[in-house]
Amino acid sequence: MTSNPKIKVCGMNRNTAEVDALAADYLGFIFWEPSKRAFQGKMPVLAPNTKKIGVFVDASIKEVLQKTTEFDLDGVQLHGSESPEYCASLRQELTQPKKVESDVRLSAVSADRQAVEAPVIIKAFAVGSTFDFSILKAFEAHTDYFLFDTKGKLPGGNGAAFDWTLLQDYPSTTPFFLSGGIGPENLTNIQEFLASPAAAHCHALDLNSKFETAPGLKDTQALEAFITIIRTPNMQTYHADENGYYGEFGGAYIPEMLYPNVAELKAKYLEIMAEPSFQEEFQQLLKDYVGRPSPLYFAKRLSERYNTKIYLKREDLNHTGAHKVNNTIGQILMAKRLGKKRIIAETGAGQHGVATATVCALMGMECIVYMGEIDIARQAPNVARMKMLGATVVPALSGSRTLKDATNEAIRDWINNPIDTHYIIGSVVGPHPYPDMVARFQAVISEEIEWQLLEKEGRKNPDYVIACVGGGSNAAGAFYQYLDRPEVGIIAVEAAGKGVDSGESAATSALGKVGIIHGSKTLLMQTPDGQITEPYSISAGLDYPGVGPMHAHLFQSGRGEFISITDADAMKAGLELCELEGIIPAIESSHAFAVLEKKQFKPDDVVVINLSGRGDKDLNTYIDYFKL
Ligand SMILES: *Cc1c(COP(=O)(O)O)cnc(C)c1O
Repeated sequence: MTSNPKIKVCGMNRNTAEVDALAADYLGFIFWEPSKRAFQGKMPVLAPNTKKIGVFVDASIKEVLQKTTEFDLDGVQLHGSESPEYCASLRQELTQPKKVESDVRLSAVSADRQAVEAPVIIKAFAVGSTFDFSILKAFEAHTDYFLFDTKGKLPGGNGAAFDWTLLQDYPSTTPFFLSGGIGPENLTNIQEFLASPAAAHCHALDLNSKFETAPGLKDTQALEAFITIIRTPNMQTYHADENGYYGEFGGAYIPEMLYPNVAELKAKYLEIMAEPSFQEEFQQLLKDYVGRPSPLYFAKRLSERYNTKIYLKREDLNHTGAHKVNNTIGQILMAKRLGKKRIIAETGAGQHGVATATVCALMGMECIVYMGEIDIARQAPNVARMKMLGATVVPALSGSRTLKDATNEAIRDWINNPIDTHYIIGSVVGPHPYPDMVARFQAVISEEIEWQLLEKEGRKNPDYVIACVGGGSNAAGAFYQYLDRPEVGIIAVEAAGKGVDSGESAATSALGKVGIIHGSKTLLMQTPDGQITEPYSISAGLDYPGVGPMHAHLFQSGRGEFISITDADAMKAGLELCELEGIIPAIESSHAFAVLEKKQFKPDDVVVINLSGRGDKDLNTYIDYFKL
């Protein structure tokens, strides 16, 4: 939910026209006799953008259709014990004779609304602590939205608010209306909920009895005040919405041939990730195989040098030496749950290829890694590692024979093997749902930072989190829990290479323009006629011409501070960490440390730097650079 939620005012009856003047997105009319708010009388003429929703409780399909036609309804809300079969039949009736296909949202042009839309179906559920979310599955194909209402409302309206935490592991991608006891008195709770990852699929808030002076008579002043606050821009969240958009960035711009693969993943990833058996296996592997939690280390000498409190999140201590394995473990488990037998990946410097080959060996799955011919020659040790781990390394021989050509080969492979193959993308890039899925797997980084900081400093929030950005996955993981807490400063560090204006850099935020790469709309370094520019950085992992859509949005909205660091400054900062703390960082991570020279922090600021990887892989570069 990157934009603010839509507003539905339900139980319209007596002062419909006044409420309509507040520009709610939906007005609900109850067609159920026993309700105190049952709609009677005449439908006034409403503003052209207002959508009329009819609310029914176990009504016959005939009656629903009749009311839909009579009142020209834009949607029906089913509030009884209607079955999936009922919804399916109703949908069929509602879409005749036009037969509008519902799920075309993934294709590039599909963001546009269809010319003629059939009335939407909203299926309501009363949710209590024992609600079984798995029942939603059977409804997904036949409904456009769910609506979650409080189970067993208390009389008098006090304490009947929904327990929002029940939606924490919402296992569906179907957007929902949040209902039940929403009123001015729980505005803060609503705001908190909307700022949490659980609200990613919250489409609208449903307002009813808490905004009334009598049943069906709405308190327009209270409504107006509430709607104004919900619609203010600081209600934004920086997480992906249901179609994978972060502001204007993200989405799924893919060739039609890829559509079934991506749609399958999109339909299932959240549900699979929410399964207890999935979580159990993921957490256990992170602990016993990767070696998590990674320490949050107070860097005393570095802190003294810069006169501020610096903590290092030690992703360098993970198995395989970087954060990348958090994601590949998650995705290999996802692939298994999807019934896939074969894994493909692309790699530039070879780090993601190694992390992928590692988990494929762990699970005994076939692994094919595409790599540009030039990169194969440059990265011999990683090629050797992949081979030892049992992977097949396939050279990409076209174009510049580097990362983007390897990506093209991987996509081609996936198109040709849609049934048995999962494509493990290595960063928060690619078509939706990849950026969101990878960010959720990497979120373990900031989940740990929260409790580790609470132990050490007595608070969950640092003042700043700093991370380097190639595609952006280690940064997404380090920022994840903090995205919607403006009191935590987010600093993203890009590679300036030989200087932002040198023509040899990877400073996407400074140089990029809106474009499409790997199926995602994002910021991208390109020539005036839209050709992707070859990026450059001394660190292979930051050598990428774009950034993930989350980061494009963090940059464009101003939520994140973006700093570009040159090769020279990064190398100096890397050496300093060796000398002051006895830690040899990956050159990617060294870029994050160079911020300490660029930006002044206060003595009592708590600054967390994500140490994304260790420097062993970069030894030759260090040797050449420092003439060691
Ligand atoms: C790959 C890599 C990066 C860059 O990738 P992101 O997706 O931006 O995190 C950064 N640091 C290390 C150590 C890497 O291996």
